[in-house]
Amino acid sequence: MNIVSVGYDSTNYYILDAQGGKLLVDCGWPGTLPKLTAEVKRKGMALKEIKYLLVTHFHPDHAGIAQDLKNLGVKLILLETQPAYIPQLTQLFKSKKRPYLEIKMHDNLLLRFEDSRAFLHKLGICGEILSTPGHSDDSISLILDEGLAFTGDLPPRFIISEDNHLALESWDKIYQHRITRIFPAHGS
Ligand SMILES: [Zn+2]
Repeated sequence: MNIVSVGYDSTNYYILDAQGGKLLVDCGWPGTLPKLTAEVKRKGMALKEIKYLLVTHFHPDHAGIAQDLKNLGVKLILLETQPAYIPQLTQLFKSKKRPYLEIKMHDNLLLRFEDSRAFLHKLGICGEILSTPGHSDDSISLILDEGLAFTGDLPPRFIISEDNHLALESWDKIYQHRITRIFPAHGS
């Protein structure tokens, strides 16, 4: 799998090749569409090549320009646990000056975890999406069968205290797959 990092402002955003377009994992703070556009261009691609957006969780540095991208024709993939957490993000920006576009709820691609493998297969991607709470309850991880895991803000395994059962269970779930490389949303 060809994976290109198009991150900025200390968050990693990843572009994966998919059939008929590319899949973007996470997108930045409100108002940063020009930054993403520039970064994508700098890596030799065009924004219009992105067809799908997967958000690891609905925090502002991961979903801030989701609607901006949707307005450009990108399809937002929502896992079954995620819709309930979008209003919190909207609420966060109610009183702020940041140019946040509220994520519309009617036109997304709603996906159950159990259907994620079949869905990704249609995009030419071998893998699945897991519910991996610990950083936030709506957090998900994208697992590729070749051994790659996109884990969002799930804290690294070695810094989790033993009483953070949710995060530990999420890592157990991730490591049921043969993982050789982790792609976190922050850091390397
Ligand atoms: Zn977060």
